[in-house]
Amino acid sequence: MNQTNHVCLLPGDGIGPEIIAEGVKILDAVGALSGVTFTYSEALIGGIAIDKTGVALPKATLEAAQASDAVLLAAVGGPKWDTTDPGKPRPEEGLLGIRKELGLYANLRPVRLFPALAEASPLKADIVAGVDLLIVRELTGGLYFGKRERFFDEVGCGTGGLPGQRAFDTLEYREYEVERILRHAFDAARKRTKRLHSIDKANVLESSRLWRECAHRVALDYPGVELIDMLVDNAAMQLVKCPRQFDVVVTENMFGDILSDEASMLTGSLGMLASASLGDGTALYEPSHGSAPDIAGKGVANPLAQILSVEMMLRYSFGLDEAADAIVAAIEGVLAAGWRTRDIASPDTPPDRIIGTKAMGDLVAVTLQQ
Ligand code: NAD
Repeated sequence: MNQTNHVCLLPGDGIGPEIIAEGVKILDAVGALSGVTFTYSEALIGGIAIDKTGVALPKATLEAAQASDAVLLAAVGGPKWDTTDPGKPRPEEGLLGIRKELGLYANLRPVRLFPALAEASPLKADIVAGVDLLIVRELTGGLYFGKRERFFDEVGCGTGGLPGQRAFDTLEYREYEVERILRHAFDAARKRTKRLHSIDKANVLESSRLWRECAHRVALDYPGVELIDMLVDNAAMQLVKCPRQFDVVVTENMFGDILSDEASMLTGSLGMLASASLGDGTALYEPSHGSAPDIAGKGVANPLAQILSVEMMLRYSFGLDEAADAIVAAIEGVLAAGWRTRDIASPDTPPDRIIGTKAMGDLVAVTLQQ
């Protein structure tokens, strides 16, 4: 095969540089095996971009991303840049900005339990056994992108009728935004077990009532797919009570953000959850977790979510399904052999099987080549 793919790397902050190195290691291993060439460029995003350029998403980063065939992001953020001052730049602006600029409205988060990790989940093994679901999260609308403002010194906003502050965020959706993400989810459901849970808060929120109406209208175009409406509070409970009832789950931006972190615990750790953000142009792949400042620089972060993001890149951007399957098989092999990073170790894991970020990446790469 004679294919060259250019990947824009955005390591970001915290554990970002450590885990993205392992993602690149796996891409290079795939390249060596398949004859596909991967070339790379690296750009700044998040806190490090604020330090070096004053903004979280420099123009050069956006241009590098737009010029690439796919973007591999690690994570952004950290206490150094935490601020409640609305006038100061925040690392997350880089993340939200690149999603918006690349038009990445569909975020796919597969939640699949590797059988060897059943004991790593805080839930009982019989509850999580066989979990394999796909969360389809709307990514460029809703509360995270709506109008927001903070007012100062308004009379009656402080305690005891004193002047104080008032703030609002807006959860807004346009019909086309809802419809296109629903179609994405219905298409995915049609390829899987033909069951789609649409999660909303239609008993309270007008935007959710629009969402639910759209879901039922779009469902008419997918007669083979069963559509199940579920309120988000119930969904949060059902995810831990009986996760196997879910196959494809579609929901708005913030609900998806929260539910997918919850769902990560079904797989053992946030360090196992990858994601693909798709639109109509260059796609972006990143772990679902953050920059984990508490373990940054220690070499103990789990690189598997980053490596599984590479797996999704091979599938969705490059059509290299065989290589993607081989990565999943390699991870399965490494886990079945008992190797664990700290976050997915159980009390029974022998200490000599608990390894660091680089060693886990090396093992997956070596297994891939066997
Ligand atoms: P986090 O996801 O960074 O960490 C939550 C917990 O999970 C921590 O205990 C962390 O050590 C652990 N964890 C996360 N990834 C891990 C991995 N690969 N291996 C082992 N353990 C892992 O969430 P947080 O602590 O709430 O946020 C930290 C920073 O990350 C904040 O600045 C936040 O804004 C940012 N954040 C960024 C993204 C992103 O870049 N997509 C997403 C969420 C949070």
